[in-house]
Amino acid sequence: MKRRPVILIAPSTASQGEEFSDASISLSNRYTDAVIAAGGLPQIFPATTARWVISQAVQRCDGVLLTGGDDIDPKLYAVDLAPELAKTLGPLEPDRDRWEKDLIDDAFEQNKPLFAICRGHQMLNVALGGTLVVDIAMQVTGALNHRRMDRKAEPVHEVEIAPDSLLARVTGRQTLGVNSTHHQAIGTLAEPLRVVAQSADGVIEAVELKAPERLPFLLSVQFHPERLIDSDTLFLQLFSSFVAASQRQRQRNL
Ligand code: MN
Repeated sequence: MKRRPVILIAPSTASQGEEFSDASISLSNRYTDAVIAAGGLPQIFPATTARWVISQAVQRCDGVLLTGGDDIDPKLYAVDLAPELAKTLGPLEPDRDRWEKDLIDDAFEQNKPLFAICRGHQMLNVALGGTLVVDIAMQVTGALNHRRMDRKAEPVHEVEIAPDSLLARVTGRQTLGVNSTHHQAIGTLAEPLRVVAQSADGVIEAVELKAPERLPFLLSVQFHPERLIDSDTLFLQLFSSFVAASQRQRQRNL
C-alpha cells in the first residue's frame, strides 16, 4: 500500500476535556476528514511548548496544517490596546500561540508545505512580523458581517482572487463565495507575504509568499474550506493540492 503523506495538525485547546476536567486539546473532525479525503494521514500535534517535540514533530511530518480557534494574544503584535478594543477579545491561548509560532518557524526551517486556516492564517501573519485588525466591526469602516456563526458551512460573502496566485490556479476561479466566522483579520501584512484574496470591504481573505520558492507550498486562508468540502469539491482541491505538495516534498527528502 502506498505510504500516504503525514499531515501534522495543530489543534485548539480547551480548558476542560471530556474524560477528566483537565486542560485538553480539541479539534473539529472536519479538519481530519478533509485531510483524509485529500489522501493525507492526519497526525495531531500534542499541546506542548517543548521545543524538541515541536521540531521532531515537524521533521517527521510531510506538511503542517494550522487550524482555527480563539484570538491570538495581542501582545504578540500590538503595544497597547484601547480598552474598548481589548473588550472584544475572546479567551486567549498563550501556550498555543507559542507552539504555533515555533511550528511555523520550523516549517520554514525544514522546508515543509504549510496550509493555514482562519486563526492559523492570522498566526502566520503575526509570526512573520505582521499585525491584526483586533475587531473588524470596530476598526473597518463599511465592513461586511464576517462573523456569520449562524451559517458556518455556507458561503456568506465573496472574495476576489489575484489571477496569478496559487489560489487561482488551484480553484480555477477569480471570485469565490466563502464562509466567514471571524471577528479579526490581518492588519499590517507581514513583509514576506502577498495578498491573494480580499472581500469587497478590503478584508484580507488569503495570502501567499511573495517569494513562493521559499516553501514547497504555502496557502493561508481566512475562511474555513474544511467546512465547505461537501458543498463544492473546489474546497477539497485546496486540501488535495496541499497533500500532493506534501507527498512530493516527502519523495524529495527520501
Ligand atoms: Mn470573511
